[in-house]
Amino acid sequence: MDSPHSHYGVNSRLKPFGATIFAEMTALAVKHNAANLGQGAPDFDGPEFLKEAAIKAIRDGRGQYARMTGLPELTKAIATRFEKTSGISYEPDRDIVVTCGATEAILDCMLALLEPGDEVLLFEPFYDSYLASVAMAGGIAKIVTLEAPHFRIDEAAMRAAITPKTRVMLVNSPHNPTGRIFDDAERAAIVRVANEFDLIVISDEVYEELFYEVKHRTLVTEPGMRERTIVLGSLGKSFSLTGWKVGWAIAPPTLAAAVRSGHQFASFCAATPLQVAAATALTAPDSYFETFRAEYRARRDLMVNGLRSCGLPCAMPEGSYFALANHAAFGFTDDFAFCRHLVEHGGVAAIPPGAFYTNKSKANEWVRVAFCKKDETIHTALERLANYRARFESGELRGNKLLETKPHAAPI
Ligand code: GLN
Repeated sequence: MDSPHSHYGVNSRLKPFGATIFAEMTALAVKHNAANLGQGAPDFDGPEFLKEAAIKAIRDGRGQYARMTGLPELTKAIATRFEKTSGISYEPDRDIVVTCGATEAILDCMLALLEPGDEVLLFEPFYDSYLASVAMAGGIAKIVTLEAPHFRIDEAAMRAAITPKTRVMLVNSPHNPTGRIFDDAERAAIVRVANEFDLIVISDEVYEELFYEVKHRTLVTEPGMRERTIVLGSLGKSFSLTGWKVGWAIAPPTLAAAVRSGHQFASFCAATPLQVAAATALTAPDSYFETFRAEYRARRDLMVNGLRSCGLPCAMPEGSYFALANHAAFGFTDDFAFCRHLVEHGGVAAIPPGAFYTNKSKANEWVRVAFCKKDETIHTALERLANYRARFESGELRGNKLLETKPHAAPI
């Protein structure tokens, strides 16, 4: 029963957010029995060796709280893997904090680093927890738009958003939802601005192992960046086990201490047996990561070529497991209207990227699809999309009053 007390409701910091788009679209996908290209979660299982390691850890009695900063074997494995891929070494016990997914690490950073009113530079479109985390910490988000259709960082726009209150810049590459990897010019712009304005940089690199033609390079290799950057990682992305929620932050000592100070009260520690297994995961041979990338690349090619032939043009993603397609040919007023119509009448669930923007109209023509899906799911989705398009072209679905807009902010 609803409480009669009006002050029992959600506070003003969180009220504008409503329910996340992932909860909403997943529920609609289930309701309409849709081929689900929405939430970025694989619909296949992670590797057997990893599941076995977690089961063994549970059987071995690893059932109590882990060390607050992360199990020693895991922080060591994170440091070793990071050094192998980047050439940069960190001290595992001092510089690494294991969290309940990168989502918690983002919140820990904001809670620990921001004074009320401090400003954080965000580049939209962004993973939706960024804005909510800044708000929960009492910070103020300053938004720089990556303009369609190229979604590149514009240095002038970035500089224009900076004020004396700007303290943190949060960047993400490989990028959700565009699939882009920032190029040399964009990296140079980030470095120039961060150094000039003495910003703390949170570099969300959770898709670090998901790159295709061009290798991902961490931002900390750039001049002046190591001492100001917190790198975020996530086991779930690199091992197709998003529900394990084992993430981490890698940072120089003072910044790592800040993350720890948030983490110790946000969750204290991530699940112990999953940390044990995660340590095994990160010591996997190169062949694991090569096969992993080759499999995702094949899924990407299948998805993108299919989307293009269904009237949904999209750039080839350079990294991550997302593609951003343009649905303008279908004539909807906005992305939320398109996605709601598509799931109900086309049987395919996708994400309206307006959920990743404050300037929602910038996303009107775009739709995000996740290709971390079985071939079978991708084939079904593409067949349905082709059919949906044919019904549009025949006029069967055109002129339907379902093309109306409904503002997003579903109740939680
Ligand atoms: N980051 C994932 C995505 O973009 C979803 C994570 C979540 O559901 N919170 O699809």
